[in-house]
Amino acid sequence: MFDSLDRILGSMAATRFVRQQQAYTQLLKTWAEVVGSPAARYSRPLSCDRGILKVATASAVWAQTLTLKRHQIVGQLRDRGYPELKDIRCSTRDWSQTAIATQEVAELQQLWQQHPSRLPDEPPTPAQASPEAATDAKTAFQSWAAQTQAKSACFPLCPQCQAPTPPGELERWSVCALCAARRWSGR
Ligand SMILES: [Zn+2]
Repeated sequence: MFDSLDRILGSMAATRFVRQQQAYTQLLKTWAEVVGSPAARYSRPLSCDRGILKVATASAVWAQTLTLKRHQIVGQLRDRGYPELKDIRCSTRDWSQTAIATQEVAELQQLWQQHPSRLPDEPPTPAQASPEAATDAKTAFQSWAAQTQAKSACFPLCPQCQAPTPPGELERWSVCALCAARRWSGR
């Protein structure tokens, strides 16, 4: 149990966690740039499936406004590093979820901070983590991972490792940051 949890929360998962979070943060930033400041406050991209970006809006009026402008928005997002994007779907139904998702990430970060394997130089001390805490952390991680996978499905892939990659990294290094780092360290 502890072994498998440690594997899940191992360094690769931690790296992916941070990177997918960066990728999602970048999508939110790009979205805000494209739709402008009032719309950005009342809308939030949630997930992406087969090129369709699901967007939660605070009201039906915002859903309608963004839907009317969707060709323009999709075009600008494609130009700004999301070439796979085909369309957006706005709905008020998921607006309350945007707060929950933010909350979940914050909680998970807290769990991660408390996890002993976060400190690779220290020997693991299993007494620190109760089985309940371990199960909670695992469940939280899995639900988060499933959500984030959907969110990052829109990102362009790193040509080297095929991982969803924030467009900024591809512009800078033409591969993802991990592959770029590997290149510098000569591995
Ligand atoms: Zn890569």
